[in-house]
Amino acid sequence: MSTYDVDLFVIGAGSGGVRAGRIAASHGARVMVAEEFRVGGTCVIRGCVPKKLLVYASHFSDTFEDAAGFGWSVGETRFDWPRLIAAKDREIDRLNAAYIRNLERSGATIEPMRAIIEDPHSVRLADGRLVTAGTILIATGGQPYIDATLPGRELAITSNEAFHLPRLPERIVVVGGGFIAVEFAGIFNGLGVETTLLHRGDALLRGFDEDLRHKLREEIEKHGIRLVLADSPAEILKADEELVLRTRGGLDIRAGEVMIATGRRPNTAGLGLEAAGVAVDAAGAVIVDDYSQTNVPSIYAVGDVTNRVNLTPVAIREGHAFADTVFGGKKVAVDHFCIPKAVFSQPEIGTVGLTEAEALAQFPAVDIYKADFRPMKHTLSGRDERMLMKLVVDGESQRVLGCHILGEGGAEMAQLVAIAIKMRATKADFDATMALHPTAAEELVTMREPSVRHRR
Ligand code: NDP
Repeated sequence: MSTYDVDLFVIGAGSGGVRAGRIAASHGARVMVAEEFRVGGTCVIRGCVPKKLLVYASHFSDTFEDAAGFGWSVGETRFDWPRLIAAKDREIDRLNAAYIRNLERSGATIEPMRAIIEDPHSVRLADGRLVTAGTILIATGGQPYIDATLPGRELAITSNEAFHLPRLPERIVVVGGGFIAVEFAGIFNGLGVETTLLHRGDALLRGFDEDLRHKLREEIEKHGIRLVLADSPAEILKADEELVLRTRGGLDIRAGEVMIATGRRPNTAGLGLEAAGVAVDAAGAVIVDDYSQTNVPSIYAVGDVTNRVNLTPVAIREGHAFADTVFGGKKVAVDHFCIPKAVFSQPEIGTVGLTEAEALAQFPAVDIYKADFRPMKHTLSGRDERMLMKLVVDGESQRVLGCHILGEGGAEMAQLVAIAIKMRATKADFDATMALHPTAAEELVTMREPSVRHRR
């Protein structure tokens, strides 16, 4: 029996912290978890889960429009934002309660308050108590980043507030070109808000495959989102009942809300990391090794606070691997190779593995297979929407290195094709798989000739 009050003190009850606490407890550790906001963390409370619910809500406008082509007459439709938010909040409350229950059932104690590290083996709770711990896990996640020099930034909202707006504005400007900006622009647009997306780059979703980026731009513009590229905010001003976003390029864009989605930063400020000697990088992220251990041997960190791959399933794996390593007698390092990603834009994106550009940088021979087609549903709906599927293949070994999909169901497809790619399937393995007809996914196993053969 250790002389510490607990074996593990977890700071932050989000996806990573909760999984780590539960698994450590199942290995017999005495676990305490502190959470200053709500158990469940960003993903459950104000991220992935509520976002996906809003995405579903925003799809109905397209569905109503498309229905006519299938013989339906849809009468007057009306949308009630407060009703959607109330329903979403009930579901989030249910999940929050389930997270608390599961954590308590595992034997962990939850302290609903902020905790700060005092030294490598002790944590100070906000009510003044000092708790000593054999191991401390930092799982405090991240928070939206707004440029501190932007005049009028206090007038803007971030994704945190977007989930709780008392009413929908008639028009909105979303700033940024990453996951959150693209997803929320689609949500607001689908819910009938006149939406402008303002991004400093000349294409959205940096780091994604270029064909996908190009196609996304076309498709979201067809959906009615106004895209302003290669420009950024200069200031935000109040104007009557609305706001004006003045851009560096000289535009004045009026809107009821300005939403800033220009990235997230690790939550490490004021956590006591300096006192404990924990090293952080220039972005404030906790630096860890393959086992999520910091430079202070008794302190570990998992999830977004480490800024490795900022996705919920990754944080969960890291939390689990940490608990197995430290309390389960089994050293486990998380494999960050080939992680599937989705962007719930409209149409949605699912992707896994190398982009064409990444493959070209690593392999002398790369074959590209592409299918760009009108999905079957839209032959009758009449909607001018196209779907893109792309395979990136090593020209020598014929291994499929990456798959990039834009279109309905793209995220679901990416999860499944990720298994094959992770198993290092070849193009011949894909081709040997019988097509499933009529689906969009069958394109993945019926692409005959490369559209490009790159040879160095
Ligand atoms: P991202 O890192 O995805 O995108 C940030 C965007 O903001 C980029 O377009 C970036 O432009 C732009 N930007 C950064 N700094 C500035 C600045 N000073 N002025 C103007 N523009 C700026 O961050 P998000 O906030 O969208 O999301 C955070 C993370 O959360 C994601 O990276 C992802 O890991 C996770 N997430 C995942 C989701 C999913 O799985 N579906 C959904 C939502 C979030 P540039 O490209 O030029 O740098």
